Amino acid sequence: MLPYERRQEDVEQARLRCMRNSAAHVLAAALAQLYPAAKFASAGVDEFGFYYDVDLPGALSPEDFPKIEQRMADIIKAKYPFERSHWSRQQALQYFRERGQDYKVEMIEEMPEAEVQPYAEQQHFPQLCHAHDGSKWPDEVPVCSIRGFVDVCMGPLLDNAGEIGSFKLLRVGGAYWRGDEQRPMLQRVYGTAWNSREELDQYLSRLEEAQKRDHRRLGRELGLFMFSSEVGAGLPLWLPKGAMLWEALEGFLHDEQLRRGYMPVMTPQIGLLDLYRTSGHWYKYRDEMYPPMVVKLQEDSEPDEPRGEVYALRPMNCPHHIAIYKNEMRSYRELPLRLAEFGMVYRYEKAGQIHGLLRSRGFTIDDSHIFAMPEQLDDEFIQVVDFVRYVFQALGINQYRGRVGVRDPRSSKYIGSDEVWAKAEAAIVRALEKLNFPYTKEEGEAGFYGPKLDLLFSDALGREWQLGTIQVDYNLLERFDLWYIGEDGERHRPVMIHRAPGSVERLIAILIEHYAGAFPVWLAPVQAVVIPIADRHIEYANKVLAKLVAASVRAEVDKRGERMNAKLRDAQLQKIPYMLVVGDKEEADEAVSVRLRGNENLGMMLIEQFVERVQNVVKGRRMDL
Ligand code: ZN
Repeated sequence: MLPYERRQEDVEQARLRCMRNSAAHVLAAALAQLYPAAKFASAGVDEFGFYYDVDLPGALSPEDFPKIEQRMADIIKAKYPFERSHWSRQQALQYFRERGQDYKVEMIEEMPEAEVQPYAEQQHFPQLCHAHDGSKWPDEVPVCSIRGFVDVCMGPLLDNAGEIGSFKLLRVGGAYWRGDEQRPMLQRVYGTAWNSREELDQYLSRLEEAQKRDHRRLGRELGLFMFSSEVGAGLPLWLPKGAMLWEALEGFLHDEQLRRGYMPVMTPQIGLLDLYRTSGHWYKYRDEMYPPMVVKLQEDSEPDEPRGEVYALRPMNCPHHIAIYKNEMRSYRELPLRLAEFGMVYRYEKAGQIHGLLRSRGFTIDDSHIFAMPEQLDDEFIQVVDFVRYVFQALGINQYRGRVGVRDPRSSKYIGSDEVWAKAEAAIVRALEKLNFPYTKEEGEAGFYGPKLDLLFSDALGREWQLGTIQVDYNLLERFDLWYIGEDGERHRPVMIHRAPGSVERLIAILIEHYAGAFPVWLAPVQAVVIPIADRHIEYANKVLAKLVAASVRAEVDKRGERMNAKLRDAQLQKIPYMLVVGDKEEADEAVSVRLRGNENLGMMLIEQFVERVQNVVKGRRMDL
């Protein structure tokens, strides 16, 4: 998540955040009226709306929304003011204790002793919001009340509820108190608020379209992938059609890698924990790693630092590729050495963070590590960026940008000399400029050991997704003590570029949503379905199928006893690009009648003609049919 100032630059966005935080408090006030036993946890504002976490004796459902919304509308209509004050810690504790508001009590008890920074909204837009300025910290608790409902609030608020535009409650979900699975599960009520009815309606229709395209839903409907509680949460299982799609995508990436001088390697998904100690991943990622697997524990091992024969599921592939580099003495003649692998890695994401293929606990990185001499860095970076651009274009992704993450000059968390940083940053920028790759530069977005380039693209709905990172790394090579023999016969330290254009799972999720499941032919799991008009045409349909399969067209026959129109409709729902209807006439002519998934009718053509058409579309990776 980017700091506030950079993510939302204009006053309008700040005002919306102010409005949404205010709406969250109005929601709480309405819930307090309707459910006197409610215990309130915390409110939040995100890019499009707001939420409030609440502990209620019974489960809320969307059927309860109209009456809650009615109460909220009453408060807004009456223009109740938001009254802000500062209470002493003791007074606030007593107030919330008497009312059994345990979460608020815990929140106040744990309020930081240190001085708190004023909120960005207030810093930048003092004319719009009055927020707690932090100056009275730590003795006083910022409190706001609306229509007698008192809450702890540090966020920005409007002057009165009447300034809230059009709002709507959207859904209710579960959320652990403080995001901790060991703590109680609360109900999170989500809503959204906008300046006008029109803006709200626009947002709701975008939301509806996004839900229709949701990759989890389409993944189920199109039979691409599944999750199983028996296997474990967040671990995707690819069904035959999904695996076909995967292979088409991987095959494309793999061929292109070979063309660009990458060499495939394959490495295990586990490694000794000490490997990740050396790389530093254990210290950086241990909270997100699956717990270590202990085979034999060293006697003096500390409980949270197991040593001995202890393995970990890898969170990254880099150390394995480094091991391959180290396997031989490397000469400058071998560099650049580009190792590539579709490497599966594991991160134990929190239950609440798992989100289909976009955030899973096991995923496959299309990962490459390029070991090069320092003077090769510029060229390598240009090639890497060119590769990414090529892949994006082939996938029909036309709206994209790079985000160059450079150091935050105020922070001291970075390692390495200024010279090294400047060189790496210059290499990235030169590559982007040379290739006309649109980019922005953002302070504070670098890794701690080097600047990086994040790849972002906008989908058909205008949502921006991050698709991986390219990073120059000097650090790991120091840690593992990598070197090569230069032309001068001396040892030199190489540099490494991590080229990880994201996980394959994430890429597929994004493609599913971008195309709403209607993939270009080269990616479609089933490219053509043969539909016999009557049972007596099944034999001919099989003959057609055999010819298609022999020509590497992914096809199937719909042999069900359904009517032809039902079969056509189902094929369209499955977004199969070509429907080939076969009856007496087609059989007599060794032909097929071709319909496209958009319902366009191409009429009858010879099987060979159809095969040629598909092969051309696939070969050109064309978007049309
Ligand atoms: Zn890496």
